[in-house]
Amino acid sequence: MARYVFITGGVVSSLGKGLASAALGALLQARGFSVRLRKLDPYLNVDPGTMSPFEHGEVFVTDDGAETDLDLGHYERFTGVPARKTDSVSSGRIYTNVLEKERRGDYLGKTIQVIPHVTNEIKDFLAIGDDEVDFMLCEIGGTVGDIEGLPFFEAIRQFSQERPRGQCIFMHLTLLPYLAASGELKTKPTQHSVKELRSIGLQPDVLVCRSEQPIPEKERAKIALFCNVRPEAVIPAYDLSSIYEAPLAYHRVGLDQAVLDAFQIAPAPRPELSTWEDVYDRIHNVDGEVNIAIVGKYTQLEDAYKSIKEALIHGGMANRVKVNVKWVDAEVFDKEDAAPYLEGYHAILVPGGFGERGTEGKIKAAQFARERKVPYLGICLGMQMAVIEAARNLAGIKDAGSEEFDHEAGGKRFTPVVYHLKEWVQGNYTVKRSASDDKGGTMRLGAYDAALTPGSKVAQVYGATAIEERHRHRYEVDIKYRDKLEECGLSFSGMSPDGRLPEIVECADHPWFIGVQFHPELKSKPFAPHPLFADFVRAAVESSRLV
Ligand code: GLN
Repeated sequence: MARYVFITGGVVSSLGKGLASAALGALLQARGFSVRLRKLDPYLNVDPGTMSPFEHGEVFVTDDGAETDLDLGHYERFTGVPARKTDSVSSGRIYTNVLEKERRGDYLGKTIQVIPHVTNEIKDFLAIGDDEVDFMLCEIGGTVGDIEGLPFFEAIRQFSQERPRGQCIFMHLTLLPYLAASGELKTKPTQHSVKELRSIGLQPDVLVCRSEQPIPEKERAKIALFCNVRPEAVIPAYDLSSIYEAPLAYHRVGLDQAVLDAFQIAPAPRPELSTWEDVYDRIHNVDGEVNIAIVGKYTQLEDAYKSIKEALIHGGMANRVKVNVKWVDAEVFDKEDAAPYLEGYHAILVPGGFGERGTEGKIKAAQFARERKVPYLGICLGMQMAVIEAARNLAGIKDAGSEEFDHEAGGKRFTPVVYHLKEWVQGNYTVKRSASDDKGGTMRLGAYDAALTPGSKVAQVYGATAIEERHRHRYEVDIKYRDKLEECGLSFSGMSPDGRLPEIVECADHPWFIGVQFHPELKSKPFAPHPLFADFVRAAVESSRLV
């Protein structure tokens, strides 16, 4: 049976709970333990699939096709453990399950209440797969005291009571604000936050205190005393220049030791940290830099493209260069020449996206990259835009477009080179969708195989002809146009195994021009950069030598 670490936060949001959880996962692995990380989100959306990237950041997709919180991306990037559908849950999902059971009559006429029905549903979720790993790390979204969070806090309290003694611990993140006027770090908000936790029956075993200033021993002792935590379990968390320093930094200040002590695991196995030392070295010892433009729509909130940004950093690590990412809003040059906005970059990336806004600009970015021989990586919508560009400007289909935009505008303005996919094969069965399906969870989601053309650029990049990548899209390039486009030099070098769905296109007569219908960024890790990103950054380095 797994040991559980419940991770909560207080004082303010955005303290880096996800990062602390992911780093702890990596450190426990470094000590030879197996781990799984989970996120419990108190909001009422059933999943983040329908939430605006402007508001909630990127939607992270798992192999088994769940649309989840971007924290699961952190978890994967730090532990390498592929997340599953059952690693993310929201209040909306929990309540939906409870209400469905109520409708089915599963509760035999009982009155349905938060305690026990909602809390039981949360506890059932927590217990899934508890015999598979040594440690289950469960992060509760939001901060202690939030109204929506209460059922989750109550559920983890009950859960820890029902498990054998010593099997669950609580780790709480807080902030120590620094008052410049008096030159002091203040511990009161932390004391209050722990008081709030204790009022609902939770006593933290480990306190992680975010601070911009070094925490003096005296303050550490004070926090320990007032919060009823051992002094060595008060862990300082300072700002880092890269998130990938977190495992080593947390190890230095004793986080993993404090957690193992709380479980009374002694002697603690020695950690093997060479992977993270190598990661650290690759970040800090670089030889040059490249400037890459991400031409997208959700550019005001960088979290909207979180995994892409991280995958580019990994690509930089693979080549020992620093990657400077510049966010370029595609809409700005929807109606004008893109060149002034795109000149000077060593590579251009057009990421995924939904809706028509900004797409004319993205098409221009693809054209600019193709014509000027600038390395281009098109991801999902970015591939679709590259195909539309080639169809318009090379194959002479002047009104080429995507059905997505016609659906939105409610008319027929385009020749649908990219069409609405309504039927596809997944494993042994055929998935069917209609235009009127729900917006949530109805896309082609999760891991699918693709077959790459032997000898193609992508086969060379992957060093393989069979790959598996994660998808999240409703529309697809129509193979009807394959011959015409291939005659113009855009080859379909990756296809679904049944040969019906184009997965990858590439330009033969170009140093590096690849569009992929899937999301390779979701599988990249600092210690295992994704081959497409590693090679894309390599191509950017080459193009930087030309200018
Ligand atoms: N909007 C496009 C589609 O649904 C692309 C989606 C994406 O980029 N993830 O096919």
